[in-house]
Amino acid sequence: MNCMICGRNGKEGENSCPVCHFPHVILPCAGDGNGVNEIEKISGELSAYRSRFLEKVDIGVVIYYWKGENGVIVPDGEERISFGTGKALYGQTVWLPVKFARIPGEERVPVRVSVRWEGREEEQMFFIPNLEEARLQALGAVLDSGMELQLFAGNGTGVVSSRKQPLFPG
Ligand SMILES: [Zn+2]
Repeated sequence: MNCMICGRNGKEGENSCPVCHFPHVILPCAGDGNGVNEIEKISGELSAYRSRFLEKVDIGVVIYYWKGENGVIVPDGEERISFGTGKALYGQTVWLPVKFARIPGEERVPVRVSVRWEGREEEQMFFIPNLEEARLQALGAVLDSGMELQLFAGNGTGVVSSRKQPLFPG
């Protein structure tokens, strides 16, 4: 069962979630259909806990710099840019203030997403369809109520989106 707070895939034998520390809740009557009512009763507490946890989570992307050197384009370092906290992205698309050059000739663009919390960091790749026009692009992200992250690229004429992926795949 996935963690009710952060969505991480739970493993057997855990008493609490290793990502957000939420105790694994065992509900009475879960087998006879009343479990849903029990979850509704505590849903306020669940969202309060999630909100506090998401304040401590930072979601960003790692971008690469390139430079020309003797007529060839070579890597010139990388930088992590933050979208903001998980709370800021929860149910609301946040766009980065910087614009990115389009990568020509690619069907989809890989984006390295970095999630930081409590001194830890996890990375995963997202893929966004490449926009056709050779214009600068903005990069956006949103976190849905199922704790899945989705990225967007927009260039003023269109917006394309990645597939949704769990923020904490586990
Ligand atoms: Zn969790």
